[in-house]
Amino acid sequence: MIRKTRLFTPGPTPLLPAAQFAMAAADIHHRTPEFRALYTKVLAQLKDFVGTKNDVIILSSSGSGAMEAAVSNLTSPGDRVLVLSAGKFGERWSALAKAFGCEVDLITEPYGKTFDFDKVKAALKIETRAVFVQANETSTGARHDMVKLGQLLKDAHSEALLIVDGITGLGTTELDMDATGIDVLIGGSQKAVMIPPGLSYLAVSQRAWDRMESTYNPRYYFDLRKERKNAKNGESAYTPAVALIAALGAALDWIAQQAATPENPAGNLVEGRRKLVDNAEMIAEMTREAMKALGFKLFSDAPGAAATAVLAPEGVDSGVIVKGLKSTFAAIITNGQGEMKGQIFRIAHLGFFDYMDTIALIGAIEQVVVKSIPTLGAKFGDGLIAAQNVYANWKPKA
Ligand SMILES: *Cc1c(COP(=O)(O)O)cnc(C)c1O
Repeated sequence: MIRKTRLFTPGPTPLLPAAQFAMAAADIHHRTPEFRALYTKVLAQLKDFVGTKNDVIILSSSGSGAMEAAVSNLTSPGDRVLVLSAGKFGERWSALAKAFGCEVDLITEPYGKTFDFDKVKAALKIETRAVFVQANETSTGARHDMVKLGQLLKDAHSEALLIVDGITGLGTTELDMDATGIDVLIGGSQKAVMIPPGLSYLAVSQRAWDRMESTYNPRYYFDLRKERKNAKNGESAYTPAVALIAALGAALDWIAQQAATPENPAGNLVEGRRKLVDNAEMIAEMTREAMKALGFKLFSDAPGAAATAVLAPEGVDSGVIVKGLKSTFAAIITNGQGEMKGQIFRIAHLGFFDYMDTIALIGAIEQVVVKSIPTLGAKFGDGLIAAQNVYANWKPKA
């Protein structure tokens, strides 16, 4: 039987064809008017994508490079910072802050949970210089409420910068940086923007730019002020990932076109972004309902729309489902990370997934579990019917 490889992973995600064509055609030098026009356009598009009037910086690195840049540019050794951690990526913030000499106050919640904001309020000190958090914790599927957190910091008149890893929050949650009061919002290329790994971006508030005037942790390649200065002239400080930037421009054009009208065929990026989020929300809901109907339990009680983490039944290794999907259908989902390996499996919804992909995956999961996990008691159609009902009753929010 023919099998088509399909990614259902929360990064890298499936590539947008228009972005692949743009990459293939990006045979341009980076110190030319052509590149400057492209770079200037993409930086402006990113502002709409993240909802800010402030400057956005693109870095040639995976998402963790932008996380490191946020720490190295915005803290000094000995700074007190608050890290909110409930998964593998939260742990990365803590490790990074320690690596740069920060005094870390840590709020942890068990994997799969979100935060109790009363605890956050109690942990916030006058001296807290920054709060680090994920908008969406990809390792557990949990979504954390950035609107509440932003409001909490505003109400506390805190000097702390709110630094958000939005790498899978962007494109799956309505995250308007300026309205939410986020000081640094980080994204990555291989997630909702549907292009290959290799680029990260950070939107930086005026407060955060001001903070950089006095912080003194070491930085060189990831010096945000240097990048900002060059970006004003349409350039980056070093050789940029030209092809990925061309791909990003094409992907953001495509997102804008999702909100095209006959009067405005180019569409609108803010509206298009809302449609992308609504799409992820819908297929996440289809997936959650399907998994429950098949007899599974969800891992997180605050599930987001980037990826759904599903618990393997008692006594069953989640690898059975991951491997079964791969060997039978060449469909790639992910196992749990670290100590969650074997306990959960994760299905992505962010970026270029639609109704058809989702229905097909649910059908394939039915094939795998009916054959390999008879103790679950699932029957063909249980998951599909639940998903069909979600689709039929979905009220688009955008
Ligand atoms: C993917 C991801 C990252 C970045 O990981 P890289 O491998 O460095 O791109 C960071 N945070 C979250 C929440 C992610 O999903």
